[in-house]
Amino acid sequence: MSVRALSVVPGKPQTAGVSEHPDPSSSEGALLVQGLLVGVCGTDLEIINEGYGWAPPGEERLVLGHESLGQVLDAPAGSGFAAGDLVAGIVRRPDPLPCEPCGLGDWDFCRNGNYTERGIKERNGYAATQWRVEPEFTVKLDPRLGDCGVLMEPTSVVAKAWEQTEKIAARVAFQRKVALVTGAGPIGLLAALLGVQRGYEVHVLDRTNAGPKPAIVGDLGATFHSGNVTDIGVRPDIVIECTGYGPLVFELTGVVANDGVVCLAGISGVAAAAPASLNAINKQMVLENTVLFGSVNAARRHYEQAAEALAKADLDWLSRLVSRKVPLTKYADALARNDDDVKVALDLRN
Ligand code: BGC
Repeated sequence: MSVRALSVVPGKPQTAGVSEHPDPSSSEGALLVQGLLVGVCGTDLEIINEGYGWAPPGEERLVLGHESLGQVLDAPAGSGFAAGDLVAGIVRRPDPLPCEPCGLGDWDFCRNGNYTERGIKERNGYAATQWRVEPEFTVKLDPRLGDCGVLMEPTSVVAKAWEQTEKIAARVAFQRKVALVTGAGPIGLLAALLGVQRGYEVHVLDRTNAGPKPAIVGDLGATFHSGNVTDIGVRPDIVIECTGYGPLVFELTGVVANDGVVCLAGISGVAAAAPASLNAINKQMVLENTVLFGSVNAARRHYEQAAEALAKADLDWLSRLVSRKVPLTKYADALARNDDDVKVALDLRN
């Protein structure tokens, strides 16, 4: 047993712990990778505490980790990779049928739900000191990124959200200028980064103005707001919603400009009562041609877009998003949330 990993029986938090595993089997992929960091996100906490997520068939425990960063230890000739490459593994695998989108590489649009996801759905994840992965599900990172490469997977999710938003926005020919991002967590801040890179005037709204987030937003060249979305005096052309807070989502339909597009990129497990006036929301959406749509996961091209976006970002700015790196043995500290945290990562090197 040479590999250590963070695993859990989904839904049983008391079972979370470091487990020992045999060397990863070559059936999991031709690339052998040393795990460097793995990001922790709300989905991991949902798997541990609320039982979202599924262990591989026939197994009880699931190795966590879908926000991977690793260094290639061994790669076959002709694979396009070499020992030493900084890489991230893709999360989703197409359903075996495959459905039409999966067959075309658009597994993020899987139609039958039979896709699998590393560290989430029926496949062990990347929170392991060593892992294997298929070259076609691996993306190379600019080595200059170093530990900031752990932001790759959340950036891929945001790259898809932006791509889809702009595709939908293209239905009306006018130049959209103002984007609002709600929620200044890792997804929100990365959405703001991609918005700035695309040339938008970006506004970011968070619940509170305490902690490091206002300065992180300001240093990106975006404008930070806190408080109620109806009071900030911004009428955005585009909204990337990253809080997952239902009542805010429906308020946004009234805040967004005519012909607006609201992309929902966040989810929250907390139950929220329906807003009072669903008829008013319906009427406004019809009269203003509003599009409200959801976006999940990412295809290979979104990882490639993310790798490019990260490579051209300011490294000092990016490194402020990685608030803490916690050794694997102290995983419980990584799973606990501090007020000032943006992204917390498990350090698989110690
Ligand atoms: C991951 C996605 C995944 C989704 C649903 C998110 O946390 O970033 O890749 O598709 O969870 O399982």
